[in-house]
Amino acid sequence: MTINQKFTKKFSNSITHNIKLSNYSWFNLGGPAEYLFKPKNKEELIEFLKENKKDNYKITIIGAGSNTLIRDNGVKGVVIKLGLGFSGIKLIKDDVIEAGSALLDRKLSDFAKNNGISNFEFLSCIPGSIGGAVIMNSGCYGYDISKVLISLKVIDINIAQEREIKREELEFYYRGTSLSENLIITSVKLRGRVDSKDKIEKLQNELIKKKKLSQPSQIKTCGSTFKNKIPGKQAWELIKEAGCDKFKEGDAIISQKHSNFFVNNGKAKSADIERLIYRVKEAVSKKIGIDLELEIKIIGE
Ligand SMILES: Cc1cc2nc3c(=O)[nH]c(=O)nc-3n(C[C@H](O)[C@H](O)[C@H](O)COP(=O)(O)OP(=O)(O)OC[C@H]3O[C@@H](n4cnc5c(N)ncnc54)[C@H](O)[C@@H]3O)c2cc1C
Repeated sequence: MTINQKFTKKFSNSITHNIKLSNYSWFNLGGPAEYLFKPKNKEELIEFLKENKKDNYKITIIGAGSNTLIRDNGVKGVVIKLGLGFSGIKLIKDDVIEAGSALLDRKLSDFAKNNGISNFEFLSCIPGSIGGAVIMNSGCYGYDISKVLISLKVIDINIAQEREIKREELEFYYRGTSLSENLIITSVKLRGRVDSKDKIEKLQNELIKKKKLSQPSQIKTCGSTFKNKIPGKQAWELIKEAGCDKFKEGDAIISQKHSNFFVNNGKAKSADIERLIYRVKEAVSKKIGIDLELEIKIIGE
C-alpha cells in the first residue's frame, strides 16, 4: 500500500499529496512536497511517526521557511509542517514562558512584552518560528535564543516518543546547535527578566527601527545567506569587497541595501538562487581567500 492510500485514510485531513511548497518559503520558491503532513496536535504527530517506523519515509521539517531554500524539483518523502496545535503560549512563572515550536518569534516577543518580561525583544526582529530559532540559534544585536532557553520538548522521528532536553545538555554556537536532526521540537521553556512594559516596548521598537535601517523589507529573501564567522568582518562586507554585489543569475539578485541578502526578484528559480550562492562563494574565496559558510538551509531535489 502506498503512503497515499494508507496514511490518507488514517490522517485524512492532515496529509496531502504533491503540494507546491513555494508558499512555505520566504523565497517564494520550491517544487512540490511528495507528501505534506500538518499534524493537528502532538498525539497525531506521534501516531504518524509510529506508523512511519514500518515504511520509513524520509521526513523533512519546516518551520516558517524564513531560512530555507526549497529546490525546484521539490522534496521527496514527507514534509512535516507544525501548525496551530503547536502554537500555544503560556506563563509558567513571572519570568518563565512555555511556547509551542510553531509559534512565530514576534508573537512570543509581544506576549513577553504584554506580561512584563524582558530579554525577548530581539525576537520581534526575526521572522521565523520558535522551533526554527532553536535550530538556528537565531539572534541579533548580541541576543540569541540559547541565552533564554531553559529546556525543550522533542519527539524523536525514529522512536515516536516525546522527551524533555535541558539547555545544559546542548551546545549552541553561532547559528547552530548540537541537537540531533532526528528530533522534532514541539515546545520550549524560556526564561526572561521581569521588567516594565514601557521599557520593553521601547527596546523592542529601537531594535525594529535599527533592523529596518540596515536590512531590506518587502522582498522575497531568507535573510542572511552566509554566516558572519570572520571576526571584525561581516559576510556582506566580504561580498561587496569581492565585487559580487552586482552579480545576478536569472532573476536571482543581491539586495543593494544588504549584500548578504539574496533575493528572488519575481521570476527566479531556486536553481538561480543556488547558482548565485556558489558563484559568490567561489569569487570571495578566490579574491579574498575566505570560505563563506552557508547560513540558509537548502532542501529538496
Ligand atoms: C528578512 C529576514 C530577516 C532575518 N533576520 C534574522 C536575524 O536577525 N537573525 C537570525 O538569526 N536570523 C534571521 N533570519 C533568518 C530566519 O528568520 C531564522 O533563521 C529563523 O529562526 C528560522 O526560523 P523558521 O521557522 O523560518 O525556520 P525554517 O527556515 O523553516 O527552518 C530552519 C531549520 O530549522 C528546522 N526546524 C524548524 N522548525 C523545527 C522544529 N519544530 N523542529 C525541528 N526542526 C525545526 C528546519 O528543519 C531547518 O533545518 C532572517 C530571515 C529573513 C527572511
